[in-house]
Amino acid sequence: MSTVTIHPSVDAGVSRGDPNFAGGTLRCQCKSDQIEVHVQSNVAHNHACGCTKCWKPAGAAFSVVGVVPRDKLEITKHAEKLRVVDPNAAIQRHACKECGTHLYGRIQNRDHPFYGLDFIHVELSPESGWEEPRFAAFVSSVIEGGGARPEQMDSVRTRLNELGLTPYDSLNPPLMDAIATHIAKRNGVQQ
Ligand SMILES: [Zn+2]
Ligand SMILES: [Zn+2]
Repeated sequence: MSTVTIHPSVDAGVSRGDPNFAGGTLRCQCKSDQIEVHVQSNVAHNHACGCTKCWKPAGAAFSVVGVVPRDKLEITKHAEKLRVVDPNAAIQRHACKECGTHLYGRIQNRDHPFYGLDFIHVELSPESGWEEPRFAAFVSSVIEGGGARPEQMDSVRTRLNELGLTPYDSLNPPLMDAIATHIAKRNGVQQ
């Protein structure tokens, strides 16, 4: 494989979302009895993620993942088919037992900087208008996940920049600052 595909929803270019979009329905990829999750909110901080934990479609080096307030997310069909992929992970990813698709990731630790936000993959929704991905996180991790060889990383980062997805090897500066601020407040370093 000479070219690395980033993710099917961005490989042909990133299409802009609709700022007034108010949410949609996510479904797993089973042929029947699909799990259904209603989200009554647009997504925020949507991005391509190269980490090894996020769910990716077959052949993609990256996932596309964003957040919504957890009280805006409701499982409306076949909740019995959900299982937690890794109960010890900070983000508990809820996946379909049959097709393996991750429907949402939830943080149970109230002390976590992102507590209150659920992580979702908007490609599981047929609606368009979701906020477009705006950066790429944990880019170097695609080597670990097998999505790219080390010598392909220059072209991976070039392609991400072409797509307007600025590559970072952790999260982007606003999210890294939010995490640091949360910790500094907890430790009394910042008000
Ligand atoms: Zn399924
Ligand atoms: Zn990830």
